[in-house]
Amino acid sequence: MTHRETLIIGSGPAGYTAAIYAARANMKPLVIEGEQWGGQLMLTTDVFNYPGFPDGVDGPKMMELFRDQAVKQGAEIMTEFVTKVDFSARPFGVWVGDTRHDAATVIVATGASAKWLDIPSETELRKVGGVSACATCDGPLFRGKDVVVVGGGDTALEEATYLAKLCKTVTVVHRRDSLRGCKAMQDRAFGTPNLTFLWDSAVDEIQDPAKQEVTGVVVRNVKSGDKKLLSAQGVFIAIGHKPATELFVGKLEMNPAGYLLVHAGTTKTNVPGVFACGDVQDPTYRQAVTAAGTGCMAALEAERWLAEHPV
Ligand code: NDP
Repeated sequence: MTHRETLIIGSGPAGYTAAIYAARANMKPLVIEGEQWGGQLMLTTDVFNYPGFPDGVDGPKMMELFRDQAVKQGAEIMTEFVTKVDFSARPFGVWVGDTRHDAATVIVATGASAKWLDIPSETELRKVGGVSACATCDGPLFRGKDVVVVGGGDTALEEATYLAKLCKTVTVVHRRDSLRGCKAMQDRAFGTPNLTFLWDSAVDEIQDPAKQEVTGVVVRNVKSGDKKLLSAQGVFIAIGHKPATELFVGKLEMNPAGYLLVHAGTTKTNVPGVFACGDVQDPTYRQAVTAAGTGCMAALEAERWLAEHPV
C-alpha cells in the first residue's frame, strides 16, 4: 500500500498536465495512466492546433513530451489499469489489481473516446489521416475538398457547419430521416448552402484502402437497400463519444451520457477532494488544449483543498 497526497487516474493532456503541476507543488503525484497511455492523441497524426508547435506535432510525440515533462518534474507513473475506487471515506482508495493505493486527493482524467463505425476500411484509412473524428483538428487538411460527415446529433451538425466554411462541399450522411441535434444547430446547418443531407443512409465502406487515401464513400439507403458511391476526400465520423467512467458509476455524479459532473468553472466533483479534468467531464470542447487547461486547474484545486483539509 502506498499513500499519496494526490493520485491521478488516466493520462492524456489533462492527466499529464495535472501531474506536472502537482509535482511542481511537491505533491509527489502517482499517475496510474492506463495500459495504453496517452489518450486520444495517440490515435492522431499531425496536431496543428496546439499552441507552441507552428509546424504541427505528431500526436503520440506530443504525449511523449508531456509524459517526459511530468516524470522530469517528479511524477511517478504506473502503466496499469485502475480496477476499483473507494471515495466513501478519506483517505480515498484506488486499486490496481489487489493493491490498494491511498490518496488524500484524487484527480480523474480518464478521457472519452470517439465512437467509430467499426468497418475495416475506416480502421485502415484512419491510419493515413483521411478519416477523422475531429473537424477542428483535421478540417483544415481538407480545404476546398469534398467531405462526408456521418451522424445526426449536435456534434455532427457542429462539425459539418465548421467544415462547410473550409470545404467545397459537405454531405451529412444520417441513418434516419430526422436529426437528433437541437433546433438551433439544425437551422444553422439547413441554412448553409454547401451543406447537404443524405437521409436514411449508412456508410458501408470507405474507399480506397488500396490507394491509402480517401476517394469516396459507399452509402446504402437503409430503407431501399440501394447503394451509391459518393466522391469525397475526407470522412468525419461524428456518432458520439463515450466517456471512460465505468469505474465511477455510483461513486461520482455523472450526466445521462456518463460525463462526470463538476461544479461550474471548477474541476470539483460531488465528492470533496476528488477532481475531474479533461474530456471525461467535457462533452463540449474536447480539445487537447482545453484538457491541459483543466488538468492545470485540477492540480491547483487539489493543492488548495489539501491545504485546507490536511489528512
Ligand atoms: P449523440 O449521441 O447526440 O448523437 C449521435 C448521432 O450519431 C445520432 O444522430 C445517432 O443516430 C448517430 N449514430 C450513433 N451511432 C451510429 C452508428 N453506429 N452509425 C451511424 N450513426 C450513428 O452524440 P453527439 O456527439 O452528437 O452529442 C453528445 C452530447 O453532446 C449531446 O448531448 C449534445 O447535445 C452535446 N453536444 C453539444 C454541443 C454544443 O452544445 N455546442 C456540441 C456537440 C455535442 P440516431 O439519431 O439515429 O440515434
